[in-house]
Amino acid sequence: MEYLPIFLQLRGAKVLLVGGGTVGTRKARLLFKAGAIVSVVAPQINPELETALQEHKGQWQARSYTQTDLDDVTLVVAATPDAAINKRISEQAKKRSIPVNVVDSPQLCTFIFPSIVDRSPLVIAISSSGRSPVLARLLRRKIEAMVPAAYGRLAEFAGRMRDRVKQHIPSESPRRIFWEQVIEGRVGEMVLAGREEQAEKQLQQQLSDTAASAHHGEVYLIGAGPGDPDLMTFKAVRLLQSADVVLYDRLVSQPIIELARRDAQRIYVGKARADHSVPQPEINQLLVDLALTGQRVVRLKGGDPFIFGRGGEEIELLEKNNIPFQVVPGITAASGAACYAGIPLTHRDYAQSVRFVTGHLKAGGSEHDWSQFRSTSETLVFYMGLAGLPVICEQLQSCGRSPDTPVALIERGTLQEQRVIVGTLATMVDIVRRENPRAPTLIIVGDVVQLHEKLAWFGNS
Ligand code: SAH
Repeated sequence: MEYLPIFLQLRGAKVLLVGGGTVGTRKARLLFKAGAIVSVVAPQINPELETALQEHKGQWQARSYTQTDLDDVTLVVAATPDAAINKRISEQAKKRSIPVNVVDSPQLCTFIFPSIVDRSPLVIAISSSGRSPVLARLLRRKIEAMVPAAYGRLAEFAGRMRDRVKQHIPSESPRRIFWEQVIEGRVGEMVLAGREEQAEKQLQQQLSDTAASAHHGEVYLIGAGPGDPDLMTFKAVRLLQSADVVLYDRLVSQPIIELARRDAQRIYVGKARADHSVPQPEINQLLVDLALTGQRVVRLKGGDPFIFGRGGEEIELLEKNNIPFQVVPGITAASGAACYAGIPLTHRDYAQSVRFVTGHLKAGGSEHDWSQFRSTSETLVFYMGLAGLPVICEQLQSCGRSPDTPVALIERGTLQEQRVIVGTLATMVDIVRRENPRAPTLIIVGDVVQLHEKLAWFGNS
């Protein structure tokens, strides 16, 4: 993060604005809204700015900038047409540790103005760290459309009720859950519809009900998909954002973990092939223990929790301990990686069925009856198959699949670094040895792999 987003209290504070043209006027408007006392230094100023200054008890000094203008100032905005003056203001302000903004010169700024969605007291600020103000504005427009104008009133209402709720529900986690239910439920609807008295009665009722019942924790077993955060479901994101604690493993990408609340506790429980950081029985028990403390616990798993995910084992213990839970399906690696590699897993001409197979093999692959993989009209997808690739290729050929059967290995599917390596049952082992891919990788075997060349659409694959 290049800039720390913060909200400044400027009521009554003196802010210096150097320059009084159109851009300066725009900044002044914002500063007035925040209650700042604006002092403008500029030989000439916009008539609109002059009127606004009178209205908001600001002042204008019709002259050029001098260093003493910085005395007793909380914040400076430089908006003159003269680059040299802007630069001087920036340097002198920095020397005095006064936050400075120079319009259109991010390199001279110690703070920048974000794009704003104003539903006061609710304010949403968006920044592209000075890279693309247009992108930030486009995003703002989307958020404007998404956030009802009445949300400001809702925030105001919540603010008025805050102390009362705090008295009734002193501990933090249940109180947050209560607020979420209030805001997303009937009370929220009533406020948005302008029926605030009724909303207050309803909130009081819910408060009494809540205080009467004890709070139990809950566990959400969530499939996070194969890596690209956009492939998460709405439900997954919603529940993740309600979590107090998040347990995640190696397959869950960083941007997904960042979707959790900032103050949610994050616990890494590992799971590379050779690094079983936390053994499975301990993970199962941890879920139970955390839920028993009354927290909302999210167990984030790569792909789908019920496909080679041991999700079943984790919720068995929850069930035994009477802990409420939900399971959210996710896009499994086979679907995600195949789509992003342009390999349809079934196809009228090439494959009438598809099978997901574990490639985590004992010596020689003795756990599979390989003869069941003989059919040329079936696509095979091997999970966890990188180390076992030589055995997979060899066994499939000895069970009767042609050495020319196409094979694809997809490294880090759906992520920016996705790579697709293509070969045949006969050649794949050598190719992969040369290319040296890194986990996670998925292996697809069957004629559908030929389509990759024509249908690849994502990244450089
Ligand atoms: N529950 C997961 C699978 C867990 S097993 C799911 O439904 O996808 C772990 C294996 O999944 C890895 O060894 C790899 O074969 C596969 N995998 C997971 N994410 C992947 C990705 N982004 N690209 C390629 N393979 C992936």
